[in-house]
Amino acid sequence: MEVVWEEPYESFLRFINKNGYKSLLIICDKNTFDICAVKVKETIEKSNRKCKIVCFEADVIADEFALGKVFFELEQADIFVGVGSGTISDITRYTAYKFKVPFVLFPTAPSMDGFASSVAALTINGLKTTVLASSPEAIFVDMEVIENSPEILKKAGFGDLMGKITALLDWQLSHIIFDETIDLEVLQIVKDTYLKTLKSVGENQFYKNLLEGLITSGIMMARVNSSRPASGSEHHLSHFWEYHNIKTYHGIKVGLATIYVMRFYEHFLNLDKSRILERKEYRVDLESWEDIIRKGFQPTFEYIIKQNIGRVSKLNDKEFRSNVINRLVEKKEVIDELIKETIGLYKELIDAYKKLEIPMNYSEIGIDKNLFNISFLCAPNIRERFTILHLYEFLGLTDEVVCNF
Ligand SMILES: [Zn+2]
Repeated sequence: MEVVWEEPYESFLRFINKNGYKSLLIICDKNTFDICAVKVKETIEKSNRKCKIVCFEADVIADEFALGKVFFELEQADIFVGVGSGTISDITRYTAYKFKVPFVLFPTAPSMDGFASSVAALTINGLKTTVLASSPEAIFVDMEVIENSPEILKKAGFGDLMGKITALLDWQLSHIIFDETIDLEVLQIVKDTYLKTLKSVGENQFYKNLLEGLITSGIMMARVNSSRPASGSEHHLSHFWEYHNIKTYHGIKVGLATIYVMRFYEHFLNLDKSRILERKEYRVDLESWEDIIRKGFQPTFEYIIKQNIGRVSKLNDKEFRSNVINRLVEKKEVIDELIKETIGLYKELIDAYKKLEIPMNYSEIGIDKNLFNISFLCAPNIRERFTILHLYEFLGLTDEVVCNF
C-alpha cells in the first residue's frame, strides 16, 4: 500500500492511468465534498473518465442505511474513492470489499488510526461491530486539507496515537509475564511514530507526523494481524465509556484514558517485591465482582458475567497466582526498565495536552465520579487481552491507584 504525500491529485491521476480504471465511484459527505472530493472529481473528469458521486449528510453513520445507499446508487465502477475520515473510510472499505473492487482514500482529517485497516467499524442493528473488509490500494494526502481540518478531529487523532504509549506497554507486559508473542520491529516502528509526533507538537511537521503515525499504526496492525500494537487498556476504558454513551470522539476518550493508565504503571514501578509476594494470599471476592459488573454493565451485565466468570475464577487458583507472582518478582527489574523509559514522557504528554487543549480530567467529557471509579474494575471485562488493568485486578490493588486520581 502506497501513501502519497506530494501532489496528491496529479499522483492520483497517474495512478488511475497506470491501472487503466475507466469508471470511478467517489464516496464522500457534504463537508468533504467541498474541501476535497470536488478536486478529485475534477481530476477524474479532466481525464475523460466516468465518475459518479455518492454524497452523504455530514453526520452520516456507517450503518445498513448508508451501505444500502451505496449499493442503490452504484451503477458500474472499477474502483471506489473514499474522501473523508472515519465513517466515510469505513463505508468505502466495506462496500468495496463486498463488490470486490479496489479502493483508495483521500483522508480529510488526522482523526483515527483506521485508514490502512482491513476491518470496518459498522453500526448494525444499532450495535457497533467490527467486520472484515479490505485495505486501500493507496492513500493520497492533501496536507492543506489535513491542516485545515476541524480542531476536534485533530485532537482526537492525537489522543488515539498517544494511546499507543500504553498499548505497547501492555503488550510488553503480557509478553514478559505470559510469553505472548511480540513483534519487536512492529513495536519499535509504532513507538517511533508516537515519539516523533509528540516531539513535534507546535512545529510545522506536526500534522504530517500525526497522520503518518496514525496510518502507520494501521499498517502495523495489519502486519501482525491484530490490533495489539495499537490498542490496550486505554482502549478498553474508552470502550467502557462508549458503552455508557459518553459522547465525544473515540480518540479523545483514548487520550484521556492513556494518562490514567500511565499512572497505574507508575504505581507498579513503586511497588516493592515484598508487597507483590504478599498478594499471593489475595482472592477476588466473586460477589463484589458481580456487584460491580451489575452496576457497570446495565442492561447486559448477565452476558458480561457469563463471558468473564471463568477468567475471574481462574485468578483465585492457587497455582496460577503463585506462578504469576513468581514471574512478576523475577522480572520486576525488566518491567521497571520499560516503565521508566516510558513514564518519562508523562510530563511531556501533559504539556502537549495543555497546548492542544485536550481534556485531561474525566469530568470534562461528562463522566461522573461513580462511573469513573468503577471504570478501572470494569474495563478488564471488556476484553480478555491482558493489560496492566488485568494485572491490578489480579493483585487486588486497583482501588489503591484509583483513590489517588
Ligand atoms: Zn483507537
